[in-house]
Amino acid sequence: MSAKILVVEDERIVALDLAHGLEHLGYEVVGMVASAADAVRMAREHRPDVVLMDIHLDGAIDGTVAGREILEQLRIPVVYLTAYAEPETQARAEASRPLHEQQQRQANAVFQTMAEGIAILDHDGLITSVNPAFTTLTGHAAEAVLGRHPDDFLHLRGHSADFYRLLDDAPVAYWQGEIDIRRADAITFPAWQHVCPVRDQAGQVTHYVLTFSDISLIRSAEAHIHHLAFHDALTGLGNRHMLRGRLEEEIHRASRTGRPLALLFVDLDNFKFINDAHGHAAGDALISTVAQRVTAHLRGSDLAVRLGGDQFVIIVPDLPRIEDAALIAEKLLEGIHQPLIVKGETIQVGACVGIAIHPDDGDNAEALMQSADSAMYVAKARGRHRYAYFSADMAETTRERLQVEQGLRRALEQQPQRHELQLEFQPVVNLAAGQITGAEALVRWDHPQWGRVGPTRFIQIAEDSGLIVPLGLWVLREACRQGVSWLAAGAPPLRLAVNVSVRQMQNDHFVEDVAQVLRETGFPPQQLELEITESTLQSMADSRSMLGRFRHLGVKMALDDFGTGFSSLSLLKHLAIDRIKIDRSFVIDLPGAPLDEQITHAIVHLASALRLQMTAEGVETEAQRSSLMDMGCLEGQGYLFSQPLSGGNFHALRASAAPMSLH
Ligand code: C2E
Ligand code: MG
Ligand code: MG
Repeated sequence: MSAKILVVEDERIVALDLAHGLEHLGYEVVGMVASAADAVRMAREHRPDVVLMDIHLDGAIDGTVAGREILEQLRIPVVYLTAYAEPETQARAEASRPLHEQQQRQANAVFQTMAEGIAILDHDGLITSVNPAFTTLTGHAAEAVLGRHPDDFLHLRGHSADFYRLLDDAPVAYWQGEIDIRRADAITFPAWQHVCPVRDQAGQVTHYVLTFSDISLIRSAEAHIHHLAFHDALTGLGNRHMLRGRLEEEIHRASRTGRPLALLFVDLDNFKFINDAHGHAAGDALISTVAQRVTAHLRGSDLAVRLGGDQFVIIVPDLPRIEDAALIAEKLLEGIHQPLIVKGETIQVGACVGIAIHPDDGDNAEALMQSADSAMYVAKARGRHRYAYFSADMAETTRERLQVEQGLRRALEQQPQRHELQLEFQPVVNLAAGQITGAEALVRWDHPQWGRVGPTRFIQIAEDSGLIVPLGLWVLREACRQGVSWLAAGAPPLRLAVNVSVRQMQNDHFVEDVAQVLRETGFPPQQLELEITESTLQSMADSRSMLGRFRHLGVKMALDDFGTGFSSLSLLKHLAIDRIKIDRSFVIDLPGAPLDEQITHAIVHLASALRLQMTAEGVETEAQRSSLMDMGCLEGQGYLFSQPLSGGNFHALRASAAPMSLH
């Protein structure tokens, strides 16, 4: 039967290590406790053959007190484990020790079996004995090390010359710390080492006890955790935590050297579309490839990190000239743009790069990131696949964008109480007779300080921040509610158009949301028309099936701002689109501008051929109205007939039943 051992040690790692080593050698560890009170309780309960006792323990009672109790009451030998060897502690340990020969044997057993390497040094620091674990851990046989000084062969970096002398005089007479140990085969490992002097009755140091344990597993686990914490799992690039640290370091260095530092903010174009169209696995493959291409274009001193999603940031220290950042951006854009094959399909992706330079565009990490982000945003706004340097006016734009975003978020949260958001309705009329055939719902925002804010100022920001999803849902619900209340007030049915943005259409769940709002409000689906733009159509993963689902629901679909995008005509034929809305830019110069006339003519022809209904937008003059009618466009909306109106005014206008025309 193996000996049973109780380990009393308040440093969990040490206790575990010790227990592990003992078990490995065939001993049974009956318990590990951290306090003196628990030690006595466990010893009583489990009756171990020996107790390994740390002296300085958690809690009020010292190890020696518990040791004495265990010894006297239970007659179980106690071996003290301590790095402390100041006389007082030793004396306490001595006092608790019966001069038992058995105990000497137990102590020897511990020396022989402990998982920690032990070397006993004489007063000059020369090894007089080592335990078996010493040999296991270091590969040095006992005979080979006796009489040698550990600093000469064991420690990678020796202790200072007066280390042992200082230890002799130190008030807390022990040293512990991490040290690199060199094995016989020259491989080194990190160790946690204690060194403590042993004194005779007169207080003179006679020996030193040096114990150490291999902590390379702990260190490598730490390194692994560190790696996980600072790297992006998909690409292996650094992550935002790494960026933070490195950027601060580099900024610090750049402030000393005075050399410019560039921060490049890279954002892929239409990544969400690719992800939706080709699946997440393809999206991941794309991101990994982009990461490789980005790193391929960098110098060793540059750092690329993935911020998350499809965004990367690159730190370029020691920029020779500020203009060189543009060259890097161009190279990156070109590299990213190379076609790549994912699951047999060729994909090409663009990107935008925003560039900020230290110290001009920000003297700290936060400010630089902000500037590079603003510049990236501007690059996007100028069109896809390009780069932009930060400039001061962008800061203003960014600030305003932030204010709008925050304000809008607040407005949405407080909506039922504060009514900052409102809907207006612009009549859509029959061009010939001026009768109202429909209404387009247009959102307005009454800002507490800025007054009324139009959608052109906040819709894009709502898109970028994702706020468009709750905002769009609110608009839809509100419009349907208004439609139902007009019907309830006795007004005849009319077509109610609601604008829907790209983010909403990209969400598969949106059809269900619309169905839900229709059920909830009781608005007839046949009277609802959703307006989407051509570019929305193009960035939807599966426009055909989604439009099909809307048709199935009974809801109509219109293509807004028609003519400004790049819809392919053949596409329109296959999609469940009911109406096109001819963009105001074609109407504005009618009649008289030959090109616009021709385009409008062609659009009207196309719409008729495809049996699409059409509405002209922005009809402001009588001449425009008759020109459109001559071409065969029968419906329009615009200031000639009416501005957008509040729900109440719109209802009153219809009730007055006057045909809407100026003559
Ligand atoms: P849109 O859908 O093309 O709406 C027509 C815009 O033209 C409206 O501008 C309207 O007030 C304006 N308009 C109408 N008649 C005339 C005219 O004769 N002359 C001129 N110059 N303009 C005219 P508004 O209300 O500023 O809306 C601008 C855009 O904001 C809308 O263009 C639409 O794309 C977007 N929007 C408005 N409300 C919403 C909404 O609830 N959701 C989404 N996603 N977008 C919305
Ligand atoms: Mg519209
Ligand atoms: Mg429009």
